[in-house]
Amino acid sequence: MKLISIVVPVYNEEDNIRHFYVAVCEAMRPLTYTFELIFVDDGSKDRSREILRELEREDDRVQSIFLARNSGHQLALTCGLDHADGDAVITMDGDMQHPPELIPVLIAKWEQGFEVVQTIRKTTEGVSVLKKFTSSMYYKLLNFVSKVHIQPGGSDFRLMDRIVVRAFRRYREHARFIRGMIGAMGYRQTQLEFIAPPRFAGVSKFSPRKMLHFALDGIMAYSTMPLRFGLYSGVFCGMISFLLLLHVLYTKYIANDAVPGWATITACVLFFGGVQLCILGIMGEYIGRIFEEVKNRPLYLIARGKPRDETTDDVSVHEARPCPRS
Ligand code: UDP
Ligand code: MG
Repeated sequence: MKLISIVVPVYNEEDNIRHFYVAVCEAMRPLTYTFELIFVDDGSKDRSREILRELEREDDRVQSIFLARNSGHQLALTCGLDHADGDAVITMDGDMQHPPELIPVLIAKWEQGFEVVQTIRKTTEGVSVLKKFTSSMYYKLLNFVSKVHIQPGGSDFRLMDRIVVRAFRRYREHARFIRGMIGAMGYRQTQLEFIAPPRFAGVSKFSPRKMLHFALDGIMAYSTMPLRFGLYSGVFCGMISFLLLLHVLYTKYIANDAVPGWATITACVLFFGGVQLCILGIMGEYIGRIFEEVKNRPLYLIARGKPRDETTDDVSVHEARPCPRS
């Protein structure tokens, strides 16, 4: 019988885990597939770990990997994908915003032969106008600068065939924007729209800082346009300063009324100083990213992991070996 892996990153979701688990079991019951439910605990500080251990004891299909610290949603997802053995793997959030009742629909599309079934969030119930606006502007900007098209509203709720998961495991960059990476990988992809309900319990685990980092990762990972922006603004400033030079020469030799131009000098110094700092900042951002990547550290560290079936282990560059089940 074919196996479906369901990978769920969780961070402080004590009030959601059990409810989510019941909903997944309910959704899978009518299907003719066995499933494994892999929770990746991303360094939770609440009772999530205890609840996951309890679930593991109660149900063999539940397996948990505990990361050594909070590594972020994208790395927790990556860890889960590295350890999923299913013929198809579904990634989803554990707060019910990715409705488990859609799982059979995703699987039906996979059975039709699609290798990636990507869900698109039409709207999120109860989300502020500001978040909707910033999100839509972000996707416009991202698609403007990016070489690959990234679907607005794309979420990390998706099904991937085993072949795509194996290919994905070869991508080992640290700064990752998984929806963009999968979108650019090719294979037979299809989309499915859904309306995301509000969280079942708790609050969003994405602080504005995490959100900003994630947004920057999306832009910087897919585009060198910000660097080119530096070049364009340099050329633009060069032209302006040439015109200024003409103006200075005119004032000095033709109009003959050169006055000590304190204001002009100050304005120029400020302007060019600002532009240079801005360009340095952009370069610094990329250099910082190169620095992070060349260190080639493990993407995540596992404190306690699920036992691996060695025959399916194809993450050769993965250094943090999971510990045997304690
Ligand atoms: N999450 C995680 N690590 C983090 C932040 C979030 O594993 O550092 C998990 C979280 O528990 C949830 C999923 O990622 O299962 C999506 O997070 P959240 O619901 O807070 O994001 P939002 O839906 O608000 O974008
Ligand atoms: Mg959520």
